[in-house]
Parts: sequence; C-alpha cells; structure tokens
Amino acid sequence: MTTLKDTQLSALEQAALAALPAADELAGRFPVVGNIPLADEAHYAQVMESLRFGTFFGDHMARAVWKEGEGWDNYELTGYAPLSMDPSSAVFHYGQAVFEGLKAYRHADGSVWTFRPQFNAARFNASARRMAMPELPVEDFIGSIVDMVRADKRWVPSGEGTSLYIRPFAIATERSLGAHPAHEITYMCIGSPSGPYFTNGFAPVSIWVTRDYHRAGPGGTGEAKCSGNYAASYMPQKLAAERGHEQVFYVDVSGTYIEELGAMNAMAVMKDGTIRTPRLTGSILEGGTRGAIIQLMRSLGRNVVEEDIALDELIDGVQSGDVTEIFGCGTAAVVTPIGRLEGEGFDVSVPSGPVAKEIFDRLTAIQYGHAEDKFGWMYKLSD
Ligand SMILES: *Cc1c(COP(=O)(O)O)cnc(C)c1O
Repeated sequence: MTTLKDTQLSALEQAALAALPAADELAGRFPVVGNIPLADEAHYAQVMESLRFGTFFGDHMARAVWKEGEGWDNYELTGYAPLSMDPSSAVFHYGQAVFEGLKAYRHADGSVWTFRPQFNAARFNASARRMAMPELPVEDFIGSIVDMVRADKRWVPSGEGTSLYIRPFAIATERSLGAHPAHEITYMCIGSPSGPYFTNGFAPVSIWVTRDYHRAGPGGTGEAKCSGNYAASYMPQKLAAERGHEQVFYVDVSGTYIEELGAMNAMAVMKDGTIRTPRLTGSILEGGTRGAIIQLMRSLGRNVVEEDIALDELIDGVQSGDVTEIFGCGTAAVVTPIGRLEGEGFDVSVPSGPVAKEIFDRLTAIQYGHAEDKFGWMYKLSD
C-alpha cells in the first residue's frame, strides 16, 4: 500500500487544482425543458423562514442519462418533481448509486459561489469507477451545478451558516433484475436551501466508539461516496443513539486504528499544537473539508500529520492531556467538536478547545467571502 508524504497531494487534491472555465462558459449545457412551475411566494417565504438541513428543495433539477454504447445524452433542466421509475430499476435492488455533497454560498453582494467543485467532480468519478458506473465529464458535472443554481438562485439563502446544499447523484435506472453493472444510469443534481447542519450550533457531540461494526474494510467501498455505505451505518448509529450518543466512531477491521466519525473525517489536536488525522488507507472516504483543513493549517505554520492513529493511544492521550481536542469535519457541518467518547471499557470526556473553532471560523470566512481566498478555492456560480 502506498502512503503519501506530507508534501504530496492525493489524486483528488491534484484534480482540485485544475483551472475551470468561468461559469458563463459552462452554463446552458442543461437546457430548460417544458414549462417549469415555480413555488408560490407564500411557500417560498415559509421555507426560507424555517430552514433546516436537507428537508426543502428548489424548483429545478438537472438531469442526464447514460446508455451503454451511446454515452451521456438527454441533458436537461426540469422541474423538481417526483420521478416515475420502473420497479425493476436496478438501483432499487442492487444499490448501484453514488452521490456528492457541496454547497452554494451567498456573498454580501448577492453573488453565489461554491467551494472546490473540481474536487467533488473528481471524487464523483472516482466513486463511479468503484461502483462500475460511467464517469461524467468534469465540465458537465460543474455545468449541472451552474444551471441548477442559476435557475434556483432565489433558493440560495443569505443568513449566517445557511446555504443551498447541492446534491449531485447517479443511479442505475436500467430495468433489469440481472446482477450486472447497469446499462442505463441517470444523473441528477438537486438543491436544498438549508440552515446549519446541527441545530444546536457549535456544540460538542457525544460519540460511541464501536468495535463490533465497521463502516468499511480493505478492498471494500469505504473510499467511494456510495449510498450503500450510509445504509450500512444506520444500525450502529441507532445503537449509539440508544446509548445516548449522537455519532459513531469507526475503527479499522483490526479494531486498532480510528477511521471515521459517522460520515465525517476525524482529527485530533495535540498539546504541542500538532493536528493529526488518519491517513487515507482505502477504507476512509477522502473528504474535501479534510484536505482544505490540512492545506489551510499548514499554510499557517501548523504541523499537520496524516498517519495511523491507534484508538487506545487516543483515549490515553485524552486522559493524560496530550490530546487536547478531537473533532469531525465534512461539508455539511464543516467542523464538529467531540465532547465525549464512550466504548467498551472507557468513557472519557474530551475538552473543548480553540482549534476546532478557529478552523470553523477560517474556513467559513473563506466560503462566505469574508476572508481572502488565497488558495483559489471559490468558484463563482452566479453574479
Ligand atoms: C462525504 C463524506 C465525508 C466528508 O467529505 P467532504 O468532502 O468533506 O464533505 C467524510 N466521510 C464520509 C463517509 C463521507 O461520505
């Protein structure tokens, strides 16, 4: 297994550096089809006043269909509406499905931006390859976001911590119970006006560490953002909830090393200021937030290391004071501090410290246009 040196960028991080054409040049790939009904003002006002995460949706969605031997076609922007699907559609039976998650942020001048869409486009295609699905050209992936967000611009909220959450996904729509990679795949991109992910704000969460269930294993689908990984995590998540915890901490199949915190990457802050995060072993989903934090904190002179982190060592570190903070990171919540870790044979409270908050403040300041975008991470979707 290859490991990356501190100075090397992963394949996804390299892809994230690619220059992109301006959104005006990508716009129009998904042309409007038909007469699209728009939500009336009363419904719109009600939604925008009661934003939560992922419960309301815009007026439009982008769609394209891939067929074996023909490639991608039927690019269109249609009304957001229920789908009519054949009950034999392969996705219902065999779960061939991948997705992405990113956000559109409203800046003070009214313009709308997103964060490192090249990273998500590259990861979408990496996930698709793992699930034997076709890749979508990067400019079509980002073009679908441009067209959907421009059409649904009024659904991009402007309050603090709010965004239009963008959910591109692809599913197997071939009508067949045959167990084979589907010959028809449908891509869609929908948007959800959202408030902050955690309704109780930047409050520490409580974690159940499981050694009984794993999110992923060597050679499995852990590094793909595929739907089945989530379905498999709900039962351990329920067990954690029954014990009064909010999230599950997963360890590797040997039971030794920490991997992921629910659907977030994990980071620990050491007494000397070093930030440690598990290296990408193949069973960890490579987060764009993780990558951005590593680059941002290194640029500020902080030591950030990607390495195996033993659970026992982490627990000992919390107890001895060597580990001063633990947090999860991902697009939805950005940064989530951990306040308590419980598992078989231990129950420790984790102090809350300034580093998780600093990272949250710095990243969101870039995303919302309050701080200079030194890395060129922001991509303008609309004026
Ligand atoms: C999406 C996801 C993450 C976080 O990725 P981001 O690109 O930072 O949003 C982490 N772990 C899992 C399992 C995920 O599905």
